[in-house]
Amino acid sequence: MTGLLFHSIDEKPRLNMSSYSKRKFGQFLDYLNSNDINTITVSEHTAHPQNQQKASAVITFDDALQSFYDNAYPLLEEKKIKTTIFAIAGLVGKSGNWDVMGQTRHISAPALRKLAYRGHEIGSHSLTHANLIWLDDADLMKELRDSKTILENITGSAIKSLSFPFGSWNKRVWDAAKSAGYEYAAAYRGHHRAPPEILPVMGVYRFDSVTDIAGRMLPDKSLSSRCSRITAKIMSHFSKGTPICKFRKEYYKRFP
Ligand SMILES: [Zn+2]
Repeated sequence: MTGLLFHSIDEKPRLNMSSYSKRKFGQFLDYLNSNDINTITVSEHTAHPQNQQKASAVITFDDALQSFYDNAYPLLEEKKIKTTIFAIAGLVGKSGNWDVMGQTRHISAPALRKLAYRGHEIGSHSLTHANLIWLDDADLMKELRDSKTILENITGSAIKSLSFPFGSWNKRVWDAAKSAGYEYAAAYRGHHRAPPEILPVMGVYRFDSVTDIAGRMLPDKSLSSRCSRITAKIMSHFSKGTPICKFRKEYYKRFP
């Protein structure tokens, strides 16, 4: 199964490609419920292989933006759907300037704690949204370990899953992640040689219809589903976001 990766859910979608309409998101959740598609977290998906046999969906959110909490969370509560939210630990409760579209507010620590309490899985999306494959060993471990500790202190529960910023990983990164205590990961753009504990996830973009998303997620070999998956792969190359190298350097100076 392929998981889905959302970024921001907005009342009025912003100009960036990964901003998705709140109205369409609500329709997608209704589609899941009316088709009896169960939603499971990244950990549940991999830890319990029997879950993969049933009609189930893994819905993930990268970056843990305030827009998730304002717009997606009320709908998820109303429709009783569980997701996995990957937070950038160094940006929790802060505004980042790393989106090309301007200031982006990130979720607060109390809100993140509440999501964990309500049964959503909280995972790490690194400390500073660094591209992990380019880091030396010390910085790589800092991104993995410090983010895990910060998020565990906020949520009061173990952080087991990781989402690689920019979907960028290799064997060295995953080995380091396992030694830092991660058990599962979600990888944007997937890889055919990924180990089973790394779940491939496909992006959802502002122009996608509910049918497009459904086709991308289910192991459906129809032409429309294949086209939807190809579109997502192409889009992932054009919407990699802005690397926030500057933020990483400033953060390391303040918290060595
Ligand atoms: Zn990200």
